[in-house]
Amino acid sequence: MAAIVVLETCNGCGKCVDVCPFAVFVIIDSYAVPERSDDCVECCACVEACPENAVVMDAC
Ligand code: SF4
Ligand code: SF4
Repeated sequence: MAAIVVLETCNGCGKCVDVCPFAVFVIIDSYAVPERSDDCVECCACVEACPENAVVMDAC
């Protein structure tokens, strides 16, 4: 299951980019986009790091 970013609550802080060990996220137009979601290993680091609870994953 890929990470989903809730754009209404993402503030573009980039913490998900910093913590993801597989560079799944990129910031585009001040929002996080899970561009390489196929590389996600469901470690939940992005979910735990997001200050806005904007990353949603069924596995986390
Ligand atoms: S950590 Fe959360 S608020 Fe920050 S860029 Fe990522 S999804 Fe957006
Ligand atoms: S769950 Fe882990 S591997 Fe997947 S996008 Fe988040 S930080 Fe990256």
